[in-house]
Amino acid sequence: MTGTALVTGGSGYIAGYIMRQLIGEGWTVHTTIRDLAHEQSVRDVLAVDNARLKFFAANLLSDAGWAEANARCSHVVHVASPLARKNPKNDDELIIPARDGALRALRAAKAAGVKRFVMTSSIVAIAYGHGNKEQTFTEADWTNIDSPDAYSYVKSKTIAERAARDWIAAEGDGMEYVSVNPSLVLGPIMSGDFSLSLESVKKLLEGSLLGCPDIAAGIVDVRDVADLHVRVLTAPNMAGERFIASGPSLKMIEIARILKSGLGAEGRKVPMRRLPDFLVRLSALFDPLIKQVTGELGKVRRMDASHANEVLGWLPRPAADSIIDTARALIDHGVVKL
Ligand code: NAP
Repeated sequence: MTGTALVTGGSGYIAGYIMRQLIGEGWTVHTTIRDLAHEQSVRDVLAVDNARLKFFAANLLSDAGWAEANARCSHVVHVASPLARKNPKNDDELIIPARDGALRALRAAKAAGVKRFVMTSSIVAIAYGHGNKEQTFTEADWTNIDSPDAYSYVKSKTIAERAARDWIAAEGDGMEYVSVNPSLVLGPIMSGDFSLSLESVKKLLEGSLLGCPDIAAGIVDVRDVADLHVRVLTAPNMAGERFIASGPSLKMIEIARILKSGLGAEGRKVPMRRLPDFLVRLSALFDPLIKQVTGELGKVRRMDASHANEVLGWLPRPAADSIIDTARALIDHGVVKL
């Protein structure tokens, strides 16, 4: 099946891989970016059949451009949503664009007669605020946003997915809604402009961490995340579905071991010791990204992705392959200087 699909946030990491796969499979793709001045640089990076790709200016915070972007589209993949490199001053900096942008995209899609709307949510909308040190989560779980471990990004993704599902129930009028909920997305980058999710591998490679904080994350490859979005876009009976996209949960020290053994000399700066929790808390005073993860110390959230496998035959590649491919791409693009 092919046709015309809108993929929002065309300058982003995950959206780039989704667009590449869709165009490779014969789709025509509309995409939104905030400023059309960046169209050529995004095209250069994607290196796809340009005739099958059309750009529209649209911001999650404004109605302008959304109707044009959705025109003639039968399917939408709504990927755009803010990630924060620094701790935002208040939660609304992330919540408002995530929630209101999703509702804006939904309204425009419905007005254009779109049949299916796939939204990139996250496992942070599933697995936070449950208290336990170790737990396995499924699509039936929802994050409790009133919990202390629900930082701004966690709240933004949970509130946006809830708002989208509530809107569909009240006003969807038959438009199908599905979410894909990835864990930490790693894998090759297409350019030196990289997603925040690769920051931990970057820090390990360049030796800027004294050791590995006792934190864990489910790992999934960007190519597999894109593939799951495309499967969800075209499979039958998807209305209301929710799919976790995750491989195994690895502790940071396990990621470090994979880098060390897979990279040879290029892995020489990767630290091989666990950082004591008190030192992580101390570093958090100076580094806002570390501050976000102090609540994660000692926790392991395991994600059960069997639903995507059973319904869609989706099987992610081994996490070690993604980790090594991430590292090689960061080095090749000069993001990490050894
Ligand atoms: P990314 O590369 O930072 O992409 C985010 C995209 O959202 C960019 O295209 C960005 O545009 C766009 N965006 C942000 N604020 C916007 C606004 N106000 N108006 C219009 N566009 C805006 O991040 P990514 O890793 O690909 O993430 C894409 C999606 O996957 C997000 O929904 C994220 O929550 C979700 N996700 C990511 C991960 C992960 O580990 N990476 C895991 C789970 C879920 P600009 O280029 O103009 O900033």
